[in-house]
Amino acid sequence: MRDDVLHKLTTTLADCYGIIGIEDLNLKGLLKNRRLSRSFSDAALGKLLNLLAAKVEQRGGQVISVGRFFPSSKTCHCCGWKWQEMQLSDRVFLCQNPKCAYYQIEQDRDYNASLNILREALRLIGLIDQAVSGTGSDEDVNLAVDAG
Ligand SMILES: [Zn+2]
Repeated sequence: MRDDVLHKLTTTLADCYGIIGIEDLNLKGLLKNRRLSRSFSDAALGKLLNLLAAKVEQRGGQVISVGRFFPSSKTCHCCGWKWQEMQLSDRVFLCQNPKCAYYQIEQDRDYNASLNILREALRLIGLIDQAVSGTGSDEDVNLAVDAG
């Protein structure tokens, strides 16, 4: 039953998304933590990640692993403000930067972290820079060079 769930989930993800950012979690370390080990071994995370990578690559996509020390949970996805004292028990992220659009707006911890992981994954493969430089302003430069 577990394998069936893993296959269906990874097929759905691979069919829907060409680029997937994942957090490179320390699986062995998590399994040593008594409180977390049961839920993590039951979830068969290692198998899930292997299936996901295989199916995404088979479809021409890419799974990008973000380093485990990247502060995905402690960073506001909007402004980059860091909540240094955040604990595992804090399930809601509250940005304390008054200039941020999310200032003191409750964000789900995992959703905020997932946005940070996606952005870091895109940065690692250079897609964020391409998106910024491909907005049309660089076309003017090319035209100027051609005309000159
Ligand atoms: Zn913020």
